Formats: sequence, C-alpha cells, structure tokens
Amino acid sequence: MPELPEVEVTRQGLIPLLKKRISKVDVRNYSLRWPIDNNLEKILKGQELLQLDRRAKYILAKFTNGTLIIHLGMSGHLCIMPINSKVKKHDHVDFTFGNDGPILRYTDPRRFGSILWTKDNPMDHKLLCKLGPEPLNQNFNGEYLYRILKRKQQYIKSVIMDSNIVVGIGNIYASEALFYAGIKPQRRAHKVSKKETYILVKFIKEVINNAIKKGGSTMSDFFDVNGENGYFQNEHKVYGREGLCCLTCQSVIKQKRIGQRSSFFCSECQK
Ligand SMILES: [Zn+2]
Repeated sequence: MPELPEVEVTRQGLIPLLKKRISKVDVRNYSLRWPIDNNLEKILKGQELLQLDRRAKYILAKFTNGTLIIHLGMSGHLCIMPINSKVKKHDHVDFTFGNDGPILRYTDPRRFGSILWTKDNPMDHKLLCKLGPEPLNQNFNGEYLYRILKRKQQYIKSVIMDSNIVVGIGNIYASEALFYAGIKPQRRAHKVSKKETYILVKFIKEVINNAIKKGGSTMSDFFDVNGENGYFQNEHKVYGREGLCCLTCQSVIKQKRIGQRSSFFCSECQK
C-alpha cells in the first residue's frame, strides 16, 4: 500500500504536467472506492492544471474550476505515458494533456483508490477536514505528541498510525521510526516518556524525509509515475526483516500482530 512518501514521490513526478491543459478524459471504470463523477470528462475538458499539492495521502490537482482529489488506495498508480499507449486490464482512467499527450493514467487492480472532483476548497472536503497535522510540519512536534500520548492507553504504534493524531504514518514508517527511537511498538502510549516522545518525533520526520529522497519503498508494487522503483526498502532496519539479524545488535528481528497489523521490532534495541 502506498504510504505518505510514495504519494509525495508520485506528486513530485506529476510536476511536468503543470500548466498543461486537459484535452480529453476517458473513464473506463467509474466504480472505485467512491464512484467517479459521471460528468468528469465534460468538467475537465479544456482545463489547465494549475497546482499540485498533497494532504496526507491525497494528491490535490488544482484546475481552473476546481480540484481533483486523488487517493491511490491499496494498489493505485499514476503513470505518465505517451498518447496511444496500450490499455491494460486495470487502467481505469486516462487524462490526456494537450493534443499530442502525454496521458496521465490511473491504474488500480483492487479499486480501493478514489478520484473525486470538488469545486470548493479541498481542505474543507469531508475526507480532509478532520485530519491531524502533517508529520513534516512544525505543528507536529514533541510537545504536541506528548500531550496526546499522556492520556492514551493504546499501543504507541497504533497511536502514531492514527490519522486524527498525525497523518500518513503507515505500517512501514511507524515500524522504522520506533526502531530508531528505541521504543517497542507494543509499549503503551502513556508509558512513553517526554524525552522519548521528542526523539520519536525527530525520527518520524527523518525516516519520512529520507524515504521521499530515496523514491519511497517498493515492497510489492510501488513505482513512480515513470515506472521507476523506489529504493528506501533497502534501508529498512526492521520492516519485513523478521528472522533476520538486527543490523545494530545482531539479535533476531521479531514480528508480532499489534492492532491488526504486522509489527517488526528488535527486543534488544527497543524497550
Ligand atoms: Zn537490535
């Protein structure tokens, strides 16, 4: 599943489409997680792509008359391709830019993603308006997180993966940041000290920044808009490494289900 770094890498890959105008939209399958607007072809034709933003795992593509809110779901991809590229089974939407392309193609085998249109401020959309702060913003800091952790009985890993508290920290980056901070994922949130919370916030930012720089993690099927794999997975310290040696202390990395998600940790390096 694409996490925040993969979505940011995708957003950055779309920048060459800025200032280009949509000449045609082909929707082959309207039933994604939420149905695509029946009039999307009409609405977007002739509109210029003005701005590309991201909020949590939503890509916000601002056009003259409104904004497309795109979520990649579990298995969605956006790819920039030449006009007349062969259509495959799960290629649900093509946005053609200019008269000669390129095409921006949305592919999604599991169809948990979404492409929604709004004429209003996308930040007021019901999917976005209640989200917690962005992990890379200054309003996500040690003081903010510690105030929340103090009153939470849940596992620390579940708390940092809650998008009402901070957005976009999925299973991979939660596991990695907790390893660097030396905190076991199954520790209760209120038992994480103030000092540890500040260290954890620092590593959450570092891990996410680093993953964006490395083009994201390609675990099963992520690739960027040009079809390139990310390579941050080569730097994972614990995620997906159960049974292998900890790179710091040589103990065996363990895996455990925590809050319905596989969690990976070193019981020597993490307390
Ligand atoms: Zn270790």
